Amino acid sequence: MSLPLTQKSIDRSNAEQFSFSFFCDRCGKEWKSQTFSFKNGNFTAIENEEARQLIWAQEHKTAFEHANLEAHMQFSLCPRCGKWVCDDCFVLEERHEEVCRECSLVSVA
Ligand SMILES: [Zn+2]
Ligand SMILES: [Zn+2]
Repeated sequence: MSLPLTQKSIDRSNAEQFSFSFFCDRCGKEWKSQTFSFKNGNFTAIENEEARQLIWAQEHKTAFEHANLEAHMQFSLCPRCGKWVCDDCFVLEERHEEVCRECSLVSVA
């Protein structure tokens, strides 16, 4: 399983569906991934519980990978500090270098 893109992320998955939240490394703004439903979630027989859990774990992993990839579109990587930040925290500097606001402030001072 890949590491989450941002420093803080939350797994909001439950027995029926998978979804994940990622937070901007700078301001903490939350972005929620799309929700993936558990396709094999309709097993009712008790003897299938173990199999159901295995399938759930597999789908959960796949859903996470999708969400983590999707997060790359929502956040931008600051080349200076290596943080993944939301659009609000990302600025284009005069020198046409894209950095996060944190690093932008540092370079002005
Ligand atoms: Zn932000
Ligand atoms: Zn930065």
